[in-house]
Amino acid sequence: DQALSLRDITKTYNPGRPNEVAVLRGASLSLDRGEVVALVAPSGAGKSTLLHIAGLLDTPDTGAVVIDGADMTRLGDHARTATRRGQVGFIYQFHHLLPEFSALENIILPQLANGVAKAQAEARARDLLERVGVGPRADHRPAALSGGEQQRVAFCRALANEPSLLLADEPTGNLDPETSDQVFGALMALVRDTGLSALIATHNMELAARMDRVVRLDAGEVVTP
Ligand code: ADP
Ligand code: ADP
Repeated sequence: DQALSLRDITKTYNPGRPNEVAVLRGASLSLDRGEVVALVAPSGAGKSTLLHIAGLLDTPDTGAVVIDGADMTRLGDHARTATRRGQVGFIYQFHHLLPEFSALENIILPQLANGVAKAQAEARARDLLERVGVGPRADHRPAALSGGEQQRVAFCRALANEPSLLLADEPTGNLDPETSDQVFGALMALVRDTGLSALIATHNMELAARMDRVVRLDAGEVVTP
């Protein structure tokens, strides 16, 4: 029973041009339900590309992306978009919160867009913020929060619509080591609590070691170190 299966994914940017770069050359990876996997590789190896393909933000040249047993390569654009919005949560190095809205509103808005009633969306947003320790700061705008708090809010937003799969690209990469450690702890607690499957790209080997399994991107393929 797999949350995500990437099968023989290839991706080349600028094909046929002088700046052609074959980033993925037959990358395969499967995540069991509830499994948390670390994706490590040097900068430029293709981590973001792989995450974007897994999260249906980009399409592979060849290969298949299977989410919760459904082959996304066979779906049309509408169904892919619906799957991305409903089943996949994304976290980036930078929080990308909407600056003019409060922490709470940033977590409510994606739920409203997904058809959740306002009272229910607010209750869920408050619950998520409590669980990552930002409850007392719920009404602050992002600029009034610390870097660690901003990232915790971004985690809550990614989980707002109860995705089954979480994809994270250096989720604590912008934070100092101590904050990074704490914020990562909060993320892991949230992920374990909800039984989410997660693929988390990181340069930090200590954080990688706290996940269930580590894989590496090497010459465009996923390898187990
Ligand atoms: P990582 O996340 O491991 O740093 P990326 O997936 O961002 O790696 O990038 C892998 C390689 O592909 C890099 O050489 C990068 O410059 C190149 N690349 C990424 N996105 C594009 C794009 N949209 N167009 C052209 N080249 C790209
Ligand atoms: P990171 O290293 O944090 O993964 P990057 O700076 O490599 O982020 O990439 C940020 C965004 O820019 C990604 O969406 C990636 O696809 C795009 N990108 C990266 N390299 C290139 C490139 N050479 N040409 C065009 N887009 C690129």
